[in-house]
Amino acid sequence: MTKEIERRKFLQHCFGLSLMVSTGGFLLSSCAGRKKTVANKNTSPVAKVNPCEDLTGVDAVDVEKRKALGYVGLSPIQDKQCGNCKLWIPVKDGKECGGCLLFAGPVSEDGHCTYWAPQV
Ligand code: SF4
Repeated sequence: MTKEIERRKFLQHCFGLSLMVSTGGFLLSSCAGRKKTVANKNTSPVAKVNPCEDLTGVDAVDVEKRKALGYVGLSPIQDKQCGNCKLWIPVKDGKECGGCLLFAGPVSEDGHCTYWAPQV
């Protein structure tokens, strides 16, 4: 009878330990998951893409023209920007970018390419 009680206590003890271990592991994994969630909420949103650099929907031929002409979003030459180029298409109301007569797609007023020509 004593052996039976000791065996029962031993089994209860083992069961209790395994329950504690598994519960602890579950709680730890839950906390880790919560940290990730909180971390994700605190992470600043992905930087907004410059709309004048967003070529979504622009034909590949025009993207290549843009590259071939050496278009850059910020002119390296003072006083020679798209905004004062003969081929510039001004920014329309409600838009953030203008355009260029040489290729389709958004163009920054501060941009530049090798075809820059003075306005007359
Ligand atoms: S030709 Fe070049 S510099 Fe002129 S508006 Fe077009 S991209 Fe800008």
